[in-house]
Amino acid sequence: MTLALYNSLTRRKERFEPLDPNRVRMYVCGPTVYDRAHIGNGRAFVVFDVLYRLLRDLYGKDHVCYVRNITDVEDKINAAARANNEPISALTARTIAAFRDDMAALGALPPDIEPRATEHIAQMIAMIERLIAAGHAYEAERHVLFAVASDPHYGQLSRRSRDEMIAGARVEVAPYKRDPADFVLWKPSAPEEPGWDSPWGRGRPGWHIECSAMSEAHLGESFDIHGGGLDLIFPHHENEIAQSTCAHDGRPFVRYWVHNVFLSVDSTKMSKSLGNFLTVRELLDEAPGEAIRLALLSAHYRDPLDWSEERLRQARRSLDRFYRALTLSRDPVFERFGEAEDALRPVKEALCDDLNTPLALSRLHELVGAINRTSSDAVRSALQRALEEGGRLMGLLQQDPLAWLQGSARDEARRIEAQIALRMAARRERRFAEADKIRAALAAEGVVLEDRPDGSTNWWRRE
Ligand code: AMP
Ligand code: ZN
Repeated sequence: MTLALYNSLTRRKERFEPLDPNRVRMYVCGPTVYDRAHIGNGRAFVVFDVLYRLLRDLYGKDHVCYVRNITDVEDKINAAARANNEPISALTARTIAAFRDDMAALGALPPDIEPRATEHIAQMIAMIERLIAAGHAYEAERHVLFAVASDPHYGQLSRRSRDEMIAGARVEVAPYKRDPADFVLWKPSAPEEPGWDSPWGRGRPGWHIECSAMSEAHLGESFDIHGGGLDLIFPHHENEIAQSTCAHDGRPFVRYWVHNVFLSVDSTKMSKSLGNFLTVRELLDEAPGEAIRLALLSAHYRDPLDWSEERLRQARRSLDRFYRALTLSRDPVFERFGEAEDALRPVKEALCDDLNTPLALSRLHELVGAINRTSSDAVRSALQRALEEGGRLMGLLQQDPLAWLQGSARDEARRIEAQIALRMAARRERRFAEADKIRAALAAEGVVLEDRPDGSTNWWRRE
């Protein structure tokens, strides 16, 4: 089966052909560790986790190398540590641990390599020196800047005009820049800021050079896939391309650029700067990680995903349905050769078509329909295996089905009882309209309350 991916560089869906099928290489820009991940970040990392799982399935798990870095030197980190009045190392260590917990809860596999920027300063300095030697960068007032005019291909990924690029970079045009579009590779550090000795004095790297140096260190000059959210196309990825190709005498850098579209709330991008975010941690208090994951995969990664309670509820209901189908009697002994593979194929085809996760999920639902309909043990067992395998490709359906269903029933009972308590309080306080509204809402979902003559509710049941 062949994989097709939409390549942001060519703006076309292309057949994926790795440089070396024995070592398929993918780099994804990881988190800047100053704060907990929100579910928008969760979307990005869950999407690339599905791609990682699919590549492992297609090429063999020992033939895929996934690198996702940790940006642990960046001005936002310095500011957050100052605001919290704590050492930078304490902030980054805590945030990294929290990030790993959150990713595990969302079912994202750890990458093969998780390089930290602060452990690659020497490689960054070496790359900057090469860029200076080749005439692509210059030193000015203890800064080193990339000379955009020295790279005739600059702008190939974002395809922005020069004016748009300057406006988009949104950085103050410093007087020492030869050209307002030039960007920082190295900058001086004040004594209280983190810094490393370099040929240009004590300083720290710019953000973009971090990823160029770390991808080179772990994946080489040229590799297959580079991923991240859409906001990274410009300037981050554009600058990575400029740095890496110019440091490598023009040799190609990345073959396929893959970008996820944003998760939004009320159609506005979820972001830390806007403050409209919900952290993965907060949401995990309300819902199992697997339900959040499924909700994140319920839209295609190149479509916007507007977050809502309803989407999450829908995801839980889907998981209930999938797991229920997996509890039906099963006897793999009767399974006929190749039957499960045949049933799995449509699911895998959807994923191979530019990671069409909503289509893959609807095909899992079709499998459930077939499982529920068949009277043959042999067929049912094969379909159940296909359902399980299809789930596994997306990082879903790997729990004990009964454990899921029990947990789900408990959560459901808790939610209903909380509504009943709210209704009782409303009645006690004679807010009858509100009490009736809660009762009606429960009735609408098939929950019937039985009131006692003394006015209390002592039981509920499903219709
Ligand atoms: P950051 O830690 O802010 O650098 O973000 C980590 C990753 O999450 C990057 O790939 C971002 O592009 C991505 N990202 C940030 N906000 C969103 C969002 N609202 N929806 C989807 N991806 C996002
Ligand atoms: Zn990056």
